[in-house]
Amino acid sequence: MKRTVRDLKNIKGKRILVRCDFNVPLDNYGDILDDSRIVATLPTLTHLSKHGAKLIVCSHLGRPNGYDKYLSLFPVAVYLMKCFPNKVKFCGKVVGPEVEDAVAKLKDGEILVLENLRFHPGEEENSADFAQKLASLAELYVDDAFGVAHRKHASNYGVALKLPSAIGYCIEKELQVFGQAFEKPQRPFVAIFGGAKVSDKLKLINNVIDKADSIIIGGGMAYTFLQAKGYNIGDSIVDLDLVDDARDLMQVAEEKGVKILLPIDHMALIAEKDKAVKTEILERGMVGFDIGPKTIKMFANEIANAKQILWNGPVGKVEDDRFKKGTTKIAKAVAKSQAYSVVGGGDSLSAINQVGVSDKINHLSTGGGASLKLMEGKVLAAIDVIDSI
Ligand code: ADP
Ligand code: MG
Repeated sequence: MKRTVRDLKNIKGKRILVRCDFNVPLDNYGDILDDSRIVATLPTLTHLSKHGAKLIVCSHLGRPNGYDKYLSLFPVAVYLMKCFPNKVKFCGKVVGPEVEDAVAKLKDGEILVLENLRFHPGEEENSADFAQKLASLAELYVDDAFGVAHRKHASNYGVALKLPSAIGYCIEKELQVFGQAFEKPQRPFVAIFGGAKVSDKLKLINNVIDKADSIIIGGGMAYTFLQAKGYNIGDSIVDLDLVDDARDLMQVAEEKGVKILLPIDHMALIAEKDKAVKTEILERGMVGFDIGPKTIKMFANEIANAKQILWNGPVGKVEDDRFKKGTTKIAKAVAKSQAYSVVGGGDSLSAINQVGVSDKINHLSTGGGASLKLMEGKVLAAIDVIDSI
């Protein structure tokens, strides 16, 4: 068991470095377009501040190449000032004398927000020197940045090796949800996969096959599976190198009695027009970009009977209005079902948000890559190095 913030005793007056995931979308005015990642770390910050710790809070934001004023964490600090009145300070540096000065002035319960970690090249290089500079600011380290937990960066992996450490509530919840979903699934357990590339998700489906009762496959991925079943998929996206793997996977599923549901019809682009066609009809000149109406019904039926749902990846090319209906309908079906529902993946979450059903989903995972790794049954590098109790 990893040590959590609840296990940290006598923290009054202690300096604690907290790695958060404040990687939020900003507009050109610095307004935060989606605050869910900040909201997810508030319980940890509140807990530590309430118990009188001095918090030094750090995060990355976007992918800057050196300093970039549009990727400053100042707007996040302003957001936090509203959550913790008179307790939040901002320092426009990541490490160095100004930061040390600001840390020395911190009072019990106060929160110092550092500038974007990725302004410093040492962060993503996992430089030992940069990790040491961050670690020397504090006596304890708390990691609550689930979104980067699969990465070995200085502010998570590097610092955890140098300070007594614990995970925050956000990471604890993510580990608990995925652990429970896979170790003690409520049945029927229906897994839904979409997205463009089979290569991204094949390992994940292989792991889920041992746990799920049925697996729904939509999106661009489905065409590699349909090809493996011998269908002509026209000009739809396919990963020819993985057709054999897809066939093997379906064979394993059959042996284990796991149902695999593939699209029976499609919204395809044919001579620049979108049209519903059955799987058998697909041929050259047709590109499948979404699941068709019959498939929507079939998938929704399966979802309605589920007791547990795991969803990753849109079932169509959602960026194009003509091909987002399938994903919208699946989002509504998941929201309507009585099942315990978990959704992970950047594009999947934005689909859920667009449909406006996020409050009907039991767990929206804050991490894209990290949640995929967890679903594959992998240990996340930065969490692995946190102290156990
Ligand atoms: P997530 O971010 O939720 O993990 P992915 O990134 O795996 O999801 O997949 C989303 C991408 O898959 C989108 O860019 C979408 O356009 C693409 N996609 C889905 N269905 C198709 C399709 N039939 N053909 C081409 N691209 C598709
Ligand atoms: Mg994506």
